Amino acid sequence: NTTTTNTEVLVVGGGIGGLAAALAMKRNGADVTLVERAPEFGEVGAGLQLAPNATRVLRDWGLLEKVLDVGVAPKHIVFRDAVTGAELLRQNVQGRFAERYGAPYVVVHRTDLHRIILDAAAEAGVTLLNDAEVTGTVTVGSRVCATIRDGRTFEADVALAADGLHSALRAQIADDKPIPSGYVAFRGALPVSEVKYQSDMEDVVIWLGPHCHLVQYPLRKGEMFNTVAVFRSPAFLRGEQMWGSEDELEEAYQDCVPEVRSALANLWRVRSWPMFDRVPIPDWIDGRTALLGDSAHPMLQYLAQGACQALEDARTLERITSDTVFAGGSVDNAQWDEALSRFNRVRAPRTARVQRTARVWGESWHVSEPVEKLLRDMLFASAVGDVYRFTDWAYAVEATDALEAAAGPSAAVEKIAARTDDNAPGGG
Ligand code: FAD
Repeated sequence: NTTTTNTEVLVVGGGIGGLAAALAMKRNGADVTLVERAPEFGEVGAGLQLAPNATRVLRDWGLLEKVLDVGVAPKHIVFRDAVTGAELLRQNVQGRFAERYGAPYVVVHRTDLHRIILDAAAEAGVTLLNDAEVTGTVTVGSRVCATIRDGRTFEADVALAADGLHSALRAQIADDKPIPSGYVAFRGALPVSEVKYQSDMEDVVIWLGPHCHLVQYPLRKGEMFNTVAVFRSPAFLRGEQMWGSEDELEEAYQDCVPEVRSALANLWRVRSWPMFDRVPIPDWIDGRTALLGDSAHPMLQYLAQGACQALEDARTLERITSDTVFAGGSVDNAQWDEALSRFNRVRAPRTARVQRTARVWGESWHVSEPVEKLLRDMLFASAVGDVYRFTDWAYAVEATDALEAAAGPSAAVEKIAARTDDNAPGGG
């Protein structure tokens, strides 16, 4: 008999993914410790889009109202041509959209979402530790031991590695590296009183230009305005080490309409974010260590799904472990291997599809040749009045609830990853 009264979970990384996983495991009754290498918990002070597949998770946890209290439920996602100003698609994300997917589309300040999940985790009793950088984990029998850079060690029944794009723990499983896309993002979230040009304050507006795009939306009940400018760096193409400068930013948008060019004044200039992803991997497990969030499936941000998928990871693990490790009101630590393996089998094919689709979706945004633009416009025109056919795969309830893939992990990932999806939802 392997049943006992408790199970110990160590979560590595206190971003949105790690906090969500810690909360999910605590909700099931685990003793959870989360270790974060930074001296304080926090997030970049910019905006984040949350599609219904993520807001359903927040609702399940009783957090959606809190997020709505500080966020905005936009009316539309609007795509425009950044060179002509023409509207390509206006997707209503309220009413029927919210009914179909059982939850609203929400845009929120990252700091607010991070704080809401952090507070929920702390209130639930998760032990939260800073200044603790994990350098590696080792599984011995059915226990895992994590080593911290300062020499401390933490033991647990399972370790969940939510240590982001540059994950140290992923290196125990795969020998891949983050892949630079050559595109870089500049961001800015400013009080509306400081915004130079204000576009539509009720919508998410995405301007598509040659090798560039610009996203704008309101935050904090319309008190703030978020701008993200993403463009391809010529210095990257020349093979230079330093790429994505401020000069390149101004240059990238020179052919765009005045609304777009003037919106560049709303960006912070002190920092930029070169954009990376990785190729999907089918295996996320090393003994009693499992990857989740960006460490498992970092993606380009064109579908606005990275954090959404991390929330799905946490909710899926919560449900799988409640049927295994925590089944019948007691704790069976011997079930962890099966639980992690099921988690891997359910999640890897889905996130691989999102990763692959994000790349193709980004390419279709950044076209520059006349024929490519014509095809892009035809794609958007084909979505008018029938946008759900492009969004169901990502936002529908069945997607979040993805039942265990019948095939083994590798076969399922390959099958799904082999599809090049040009059908994609209206994120950005
Ligand atoms: P991270 O946020 O990277 O957190 C990792 C944490 O682990 C960090 O706190 C780090 O300090 C800590 N850490 C790292 N290594 C260690 C270690 N060895 N030991 C201990 N701690 C460690 N997603 C959306 O859903 N919607 C969007 O609209 C959206 N827009 C985006 C726009 C841009 C420009 C970018 C770049 C991304 C966007 N994303 C979006 C993606 C989203 O931000 C990420 O997918 C998400 O934040 C990943 O969360 P995470 O917790 O997995 O990783």
